[in-house]
Amino acid sequence: MLVVGGGLVGLTAALVLRHHGLAVTLLERRTGSSPQPKARRVNMRTMEIFRELGLAELVRAAARELAGHDRMAAGRTLAEAGLLPLWRPVDESGTVIEPSPELPCLIAQDLLEPVLREAAVRGGARVRFGTEVTEVAQDAETVTATTHSGEQVRARYLIAADGARSPIREALGITRSGRGALGEPNVNVYFTADLRELVRDKPFNLCQIEHPQARGGLCSVDGRHRWVFMAEGGDTGRDWPRVLETAVGAPLPDLEVHSVLTWQAEMRVADRYRAGRILLAGDAAHVMPPFAASGANTGIADVHDLGWKLAAALRGDTGPLDGYHAERHAAGWFTAEQSSIRTVNLRDGVPGGDGLAHPYVLACGGFQYPLPGITETEPITEFAPAGRVGTRIPHRWLAEGRSTLDLAGPDWALVVAGSPIPWQDCGFPVHQVDVDFLEPGTAVLLRPDQVIAWRGTDPRQLTELAVADGVCFTTAQ
Ligand SMILES: Cc1cc2nc3c(=O)[nH]c(=O)nc-3n(C[C@H](O)[C@H](O)[C@H](O)COP(=O)(O)OP(=O)(O)OC[C@H]3O[C@@H](n4cnc5c(N)ncnc54)[C@H](O)[C@@H]3O)c2cc1C
Repeated sequence: MLVVGGGLVGLTAALVLRHHGLAVTLLERRTGSSPQPKARRVNMRTMEIFRELGLAELVRAAARELAGHDRMAAGRTLAEAGLLPLWRPVDESGTVIEPSPELPCLIAQDLLEPVLREAAVRGGARVRFGTEVTEVAQDAETVTATTHSGEQVRARYLIAADGARSPIREALGITRSGRGALGEPNVNVYFTADLRELVRDKPFNLCQIEHPQARGGLCSVDGRHRWVFMAEGGDTGRDWPRVLETAVGAPLPDLEVHSVLTWQAEMRVADRYRAGRILLAGDAAHVMPPFAASGANTGIADVHDLGWKLAAALRGDTGPLDGYHAERHAAGWFTAEQSSIRTVNLRDGVPGGDGLAHPYVLACGGFQYPLPGITETEPITEFAPAGRVGTRIPHRWLAEGRSTLDLAGPDWALVVAGSPIPWQDCGFPVHQVDVDFLEPGTAVLLRPDQVIAWRGTDPRQLTELAVADGVCFTTAQ
């Protein structure tokens, strides 16, 4: 397997492929990590994926600087800002919902990338930074990547995780659709300044600055010295020290501006996620505004899905891989669309109404894949997972700190309520559980990505399907 691109998505791809026992080489043109600490919000679904890979503790340890920075803040300046109320959804009985065995965390991209890179190398991936791919070619059996030094690297499949401008997507002539550019360009200013005294009583994730001369969002990168100011408008040539002192509302004697980067909120989704043996993932497949903090998280879900599908393809079962576009394009479009219609004013609180998905639907992989056998549609404006076909199995705690999500991955699993005996000859590892979303006598079949492929009460039906369709239950095209 070949992965091109060593950002968050490419590095996770290498880890997932190793988890499925596949040999993998990753080629990245940069020599180091992301120069800007762009993405920071790692959502619950991504943490579940890291949990499956055995990395959740490591990531949480690396994220310790921003532990507790859950709140949003707003004010004319940072000095005048106050924390906004913490949003914690409750169920009908008023109990706080616990949707995942893993809490989300905040960790700057330039801290997370090295953690993933080291883990990938430790796990046996060949990770080669400083290696640019200049050409990609494929035939019926293999893909060949040519590097800047003229070296040729061959593999059975290639994951293009080469970012929003994706030279591979461009070379393949794959077009993109979506709402295009949204709003004005923005400027991210990455700076250091000792703000410990100012923020001591308000550990925030993002602080909305409302001063007319310095409107924007101040993001905590380490909550003490490292900050990113997201300024409105695309003018990179402003007097940044002055703007930052205005935004903070205090002199900054030790201020250092490290980089100034323009970016544009856009929604563009590739019209094809696959061209033969080449699979697009991450920003190469979809770009979306950062307001739902979903870009990297969606890309990580792409490669989590590709892991088991590529492993099946290498065993000769290409059915699952044939469903990659149908499933992940739909999921990417949904998330990009939701990210495009969200408010950016933190004082409006948690967005709702007008078809906006419940934030946990985005954060917990609540998207329903278009699988055959769907009898009930998963709602999106409320978070109400019920073990429907095409959705991630709802999280419930089992014995010894295990979750229902731990039952599958990298293998399939048959999760059964009531007696396991009738299910024992279906050809899947059987796990007996006692959970509220399964009546006794009902079973759900989990794919290796913890998505429910089948639900029913008749073991014969499951056996017949498994025989007729392999174990993949090929997705709708
Ligand atoms: C301001 C901002 C805030 C954000 N916040 C969040 C957030 O909180 N949560 C979230 O989930 N997302 C967030 N995002 C989005 C997130 O940053 C991206 O979606 C994510 O980084 C994309 O990862 P990637 O690995 O797909 O692409 P990239 O990080 O762009 O990586 C692609 C890699 O491919 C390499 N490459 C390209 N061409 C070649 C080649 N020919 N040969 C070899 N290597 C090549 C590049 O050097 C690069 O390292 C944010 C984005 C912005 C702009």
